[in-house]
Amino acid sequence: MRINIIGGGPAGLYFALLMKKSDPAHVVTVYERNAPGSTFGWGVVFSDKTLSYLKETDEASYRSITDRFEMWDNVDVVHRDEKVTIRGNRFSGIARIELLHILQERCRELEVDLRFQTEVADTESLARECDLLVGADGINSTVRQAYSEFFEPDLSIRANKYIWYGTPQLFHGLTLTFHETQAGVFAAHSYKFNRTMSTFIVECDPQTWERAGFASMSEEATRDYLAGVFQRDLHGHELLSNNSKWINFVNVRNKHWSHRHLVLLGDALHTAHFSIGSGTKLALEDAIALHQCFQGGADVGAALAEFERVRKPIIEEYQAAAHESLVWFEHARDYMHLSPLPFAYKLMTRSKRIDYENLKRRDPEFIAAYEAAGS
Ligand SMILES: Cc1cc2nc3c(=O)[nH]c(=O)nc-3n(C[C@H](O)[C@H](O)[C@H](O)COP(=O)(O)OP(=O)(O)OC[C@H]3O[C@@H](n4cnc5c(N)ncnc54)[C@H](O)[C@@H]3O)c2cc1C
Repeated sequence: MRINIIGGGPAGLYFALLMKKSDPAHVVTVYERNAPGSTFGWGVVFSDKTLSYLKETDEASYRSITDRFEMWDNVDVVHRDEKVTIRGNRFSGIARIELLHILQERCRELEVDLRFQTEVADTESLARECDLLVGADGINSTVRQAYSEFFEPDLSIRANKYIWYGTPQLFHGLTLTFHETQAGVFAAHSYKFNRTMSTFIVECDPQTWERAGFASMSEEATRDYLAGVFQRDLHGHELLSNNSKWINFVNVRNKHWSHRHLVLLGDALHTAHFSIGSGTKLALEDAIALHQCFQGGADVGAALAEFERVRKPIIEEYQAAAHESLVWFEHARDYMHLSPLPFAYKLMTRSKRIDYENLKRRDPEFIAAYEAAGS
């Protein structure tokens, strides 16, 4: 089979290497607009469940990924400068660039044709010359746009603004920090992803953003402002930019997942708010699911229909949980009157995937403290 993949992010690279590994006769080409070393962002996180899928699917890349992992089991909620720790939430972090290098290397080993610095504008010509065209080209997918009348995408732009920084301050565990300032409420999502760096995402509602005056603030002044808001948490460390800009989260859904021999994968197909840390996980799991649909000799049409049948309910469940979570962050100001323990409890149960019983199993000490506080 001849397979063209647009986008060399986690979804495109992982699908490429799996297809090539299961049948070296496939001709697999990945078209990526960026150079191999350039990437946006800092670190990404995975749950234990994703790791077990990666191990079963391709042990070689699994080993390289886990060799570079930072692992933790705590969520720390910082409110009114008080830290509440909730254990029993196992996650692992890795720099996005390291993950991409590992997947690129594995693709090369398996003789996937990687074409960097190649922007695809004409999707139809690439589609004509292959048996399967995969649009793994991220949130602003060219493939999705080119065939939008068939995929019928639904893009909803959310109100909150966020910006993605790095920092040398090490946050051991997923740390969610809240500060109420004169402008309004700021939340930071931070976690360490290697021995020297943490991801630090700052989020605020549009009213706070306006009042703080970010619309007319330079990149440097914005960084200084936010480093000031989180001064105590950063312990004097700076925020580092990597082309960091304020953005609004876009919720992506598609009514149809494939058209002819074209299919979407990863962020091009669906997004889930970063507060449940599952964008990269879903991208890799999509690749695994699509690859599985080709096992046993299914033809392209049957495999793409099967992919949508088995994967869509799982994605819809994730998106529902992610939606609850993003709505909570959009209304964070409504919870700021709570003292730290009930605030942490509300935050932990926001997506409705974790409830009282579940938290009690994960961290009985936290629940005992929460109850003792008369919550
Ligand atoms: C602020 C923020 C924080 C996040 N935090 C986390 C987290 O903690 N954990 C997590 O798991 N995920 C996180 N994510 C999500 C994660 O980054 C994405 O969900 C994930 O990278 C999706 O993978 P993908 O392969 O589908 O798309 P992408 O990684 O976006 O890859 C798409 C690729 O396609 C290329 N491309 C696009 N168009 C073209 C074209 N026309 N021609 C050629 N190449 C093209 C792009 O250059 C890009 O390399 C976060 C995202 C954001 C914005």
